[in-house]
Amino acid sequence: MYYNKSCKRLQSDYFNGGITLDDNNQTSQVVSTVLSLDKPEQINAKKVTRTLQKNWVVVEPTYASVCHADERYYSGKRRPEALAKKLPMALLHEGIGVVKQSQSSKFQVGQRVVIVPGIPGKDLHNANPATNSLPANYDNTGVFMSSGYDGIAQSAVVQPANELVAIPDNVPNELAILTEVSTIGYEASTRVKHILQKKDIKVGLFGDGPVGYMAAAVLHYIWHLDKEHLVVFGGMPDRIEKIDFATTYLSDHYDFDQADADFDLIFEATGGNFSSTAINEAIKVLKPLGSIVLMGVSENLVPIDTRDVLEKGLTLYGTSRSVATDFQVVLKAISESEAYQQTLKKLLPDQVYAVHDAADLMTAFQEIIARNDWHKAIIEFHWH
Ligand SMILES: [Zn+2]
Repeated sequence: MYYNKSCKRLQSDYFNGGITLDDNNQTSQVVSTVLSLDKPEQINAKKVTRTLQKNWVVVEPTYASVCHADERYYSGKRRPEALAKKLPMALLHEGIGVVKQSQSSKFQVGQRVVIVPGIPGKDLHNANPATNSLPANYDNTGVFMSSGYDGIAQSAVVQPANELVAIPDNVPNELAILTEVSTIGYEASTRVKHILQKKDIKVGLFGDGPVGYMAAAVLHYIWHLDKEHLVVFGGMPDRIEKIDFATTYLSDHYDFDQADADFDLIFEATGGNFSSTAINEAIKVLKPLGSIVLMGVSENLVPIDTRDVLEKGLTLYGTSRSVATDFQVVLKAISESEAYQQTLKKLLPDQVYAVHDAADLMTAFQEIIARNDWHKAIIEFHWH
């Protein structure tokens, strides 16, 4: 990491392990080595100078996990318009790091933090007070890392303190990495908390990928739904057998036409081509006035049986991404429950990808995409 030599050093409370501060507004310059996806399958390292402002923090990423969204960008599986609009950028938005410099009283140098990838407009522009009352994940004045804004694949993430969450001491790095994906499920659950707070409800979840698995874990460990009240429908026997805290079925072996329509609420976390099947099966087994929360991402339009949505008076919720408060709730729950930690551990791979430079990251992406493993792919950064 390099700092702007022309700045004057100040011995003040802001001086926190090597910050160089501007005379007037206490900003400093930080040079980040950005592993930039310039076009599909082409990552190049470049130095980018960023400004560390008041209430912002410099974080050196240590670990990141790879999202399907990153894989789609890397392999060029997004629409050409989307690629043209979002590249070049550093990939990765699920990760953790160590504080290297802090212009915030909330964080000290050396602290481990989870990076919150969604930065609301008010924090991005240091606006005070907030002018927009929409939550950041539904407010288009903000940015999202690795979606048109540099992600975690860089040596120095310069981030508003509000978009960092301290990792409790008893949460190891490898579990803290899983926070971001877990918050996707938690955010989805907050949209229907009025239903989840009721007694004796029956909740279903479609999807046995990491997003579905972690969302199911949220419903069990945070909302305390047990096997009697939580049913997970999946496509692969070896995946659903890992879900020992809920009742599970293979979708293919479940007769949705004959089954009782007794679900109050169903989460769809399949995405892609499976979305349509899952949503239509959900529509069949929901009670009248039931609800569906849509979590799965699809590049194409998804045909659904609107006739039965109308007849049953169903409600569909859309949910996207998550905000810093979701991270706080999830990290606290992980730190307080050994069983929750054991459940998340099942997602960890046997080995991680060590990344020193752009070439390593390209090799990692090629292998990750080729392997298509259920476990989360994890990257360990070596910046020095
Ligand atoms: Zn993701």
